[in-house]
Amino acid sequence: MTKNAEQILEIVNNSQEHLSAEQIYLRLKETNRGAAMATVYNNLSYLYKEGFIRKISVEGYPDRYDTMKRHEHLVCRRCGKLSDIQLDDLTEVLQKQVSVEMFSYDLKIGYLCEECMKEDCMKIESFKYK
Ligand SMILES: [Zn+2]
Ligand SMILES: [Zn+2]
Repeated sequence: MTKNAEQILEIVNNSQEHLSAEQIYLRLKETNRGAAMATVYNNLSYLYKEGFIRKISVEGYPDRYDTMKRHEHLVCRRCGKLSDIQLDDLTEVLQKQVSVEMFSYDLKIGYLCEECMKEDCMKIESFKYK
């Protein structure tokens, strides 16, 4: 693994957020001023393919990168916000229903985050009193 790949892996693994390539680039620049955006993209794709990190794709938002540590995600349908959620390991349950040998699974649960829920309520309230 190259020095850049190592640094990027460290950034992803140490972050509590779900960083986009751009955010990772900005963090990398703090310690490695010469880093280029293309390097970040290349290394992210390498790390993802080799199974060092995971990628979370949500329609309409840039891909975000995350640690391989087992956890699932809640995804706000309105604003795309991601939150970690710890569920029981579903491998066995799913494997029983899948005819091929399962390699991994990736679960995204859609919901409305608190802020979006509030916004919704406010809209309904203001509508009521018109
Ligand atoms: Zn939201
Ligand atoms: Zn996560």
